[in-house]
Amino acid sequence: MNIHEYQAKQLLSQYGVTVPQGFPCTSADEVRKAAETLFSAGTQRVVIKSQTHAGGRGKGTFKNGFQGGVQLRANVEETVSTAQSMLGQTLVTKQTGEDGRLISTVLIEKASNIRRELYVAVLLDRDTSRPLIMASRAGGMDIEEVAAKTPEKIIKETIDPAIGMMPYQARKLAVALELTGPLINQATKLLLGLYKTWWECDASLVEVNPLCVVEGPDGADAIVAVDAKVSIDDNALYRHKNIQAMRDLAEEAPLETEASKYNLNYIKLDGSIACLVNGAGLAMATMDIIQHFGGSPANFLDVGGGATKEQVTAAFKIILNDPNVKAILVNIFGGIMRCDVIADGIVAAVKETHLNLPLVVRLEGNNVKVGQKILQESGLPLITGDTMADAAEKVVRSIQK
Ligand code: GDP
Ligand code: MG
Repeated sequence: MNIHEYQAKQLLSQYGVTVPQGFPCTSADEVRKAAETLFSAGTQRVVIKSQTHAGGRGKGTFKNGFQGGVQLRANVEETVSTAQSMLGQTLVTKQTGEDGRLISTVLIEKASNIRRELYVAVLLDRDTSRPLIMASRAGGMDIEEVAAKTPEKIIKETIDPAIGMMPYQARKLAVALELTGPLINQATKLLLGLYKTWWECDASLVEVNPLCVVEGPDGADAIVAVDAKVSIDDNALYRHKNIQAMRDLAEEAPLETEASKYNLNYIKLDGSIACLVNGAGLAMATMDIIQHFGGSPANFLDVGGGATKEQVTAAFKIILNDPNVKAILVNIFGGIMRCDVIADGIVAAVKETHLNLPLVVRLEGNNVKVGQKILQESGLPLITGDTMADAAEKVVRSIQK
């Protein structure tokens, strides 16, 4: 699950990471109050930041023509009018696709006078099966591009999860980032805070881009997390009620949200053949075999090991909500799951949704005979497949006619 920048900064500051002072606002009135608070405290400029999970906001464009989802302003009135050009508007960035994202919150922050922009992230390195700190002196830009074109600019430090991040590792990174003097201690504290956030919040990613060297209150350099992105591992969300409450459904694909209500693992894809499968591995293999026979999958859908009739019906409804779907392939291997339960679910779902698309079903395993009998006796016009290949070929052919 992803959270907004302002939420990420709230979490980070609890772990001792320095973030700019700021206020999330959803209306012009709130923006005015925030701006007045900041300017009356002596702030020279504030930054107005559109809140969406998608990155690249600074270089994004609103559908109303307004350029830039991150803006600096020097007085209250301009801050309010700029925020009004963002609130309720759709921002299109490199990461949103052409549909863009509706901006319903802006973050009003004390702007930093930036001297250097760095990059730092904590993530899981699947090669070493260990946490990894990735940093770069080339912050503020597209890090994928930096990694592709100038891999030598990426600094890596692997963490032993049993010990955690050691202060010397943070200092080593600070030096590699060419920080000097008192900044080394500041950066050390900040980096340790990033790692602690990642670890204790069960994050899959904590990314600060840019991490900035800014002009501090006394004119000396200081280190601040100017942007922040935090993604949480969904499997651990149950033990973080405070983070669960940060979920913003408006940022998620509606069908995927609906699916998660029924504990279904659904990911929408661009093809025309919907698949309903139990088990992630079988779901992947099913997508592959559809492709092999010249079709293209409309989704990934794993109903899990012990799906109920209600879940199967919900799965059908979700599948049918996608207008690109031209045929459905049900591929079930009954292990824990009994094929007769699935067959009951299919029959109920087909009746309830008045399905009139080709439906190919392949059942195998636990109680398969009973399951097949239920399908046959239902009188529904479904096509059965004997093997996975047979079913995949039949479903692809069903839409070629
Ligand atoms: P993103 O485009 O979605 O990654 O949003 P960021 O928060 O990273 O902002 C984009 C860019 O705006 C940063 O790389 C900075 O160059 C600039 N920016 C953001 N906040 C400030 C600020 O407080 N002061 C200044 N001078 N620039 C800022
Ligand atoms: Mg950024």
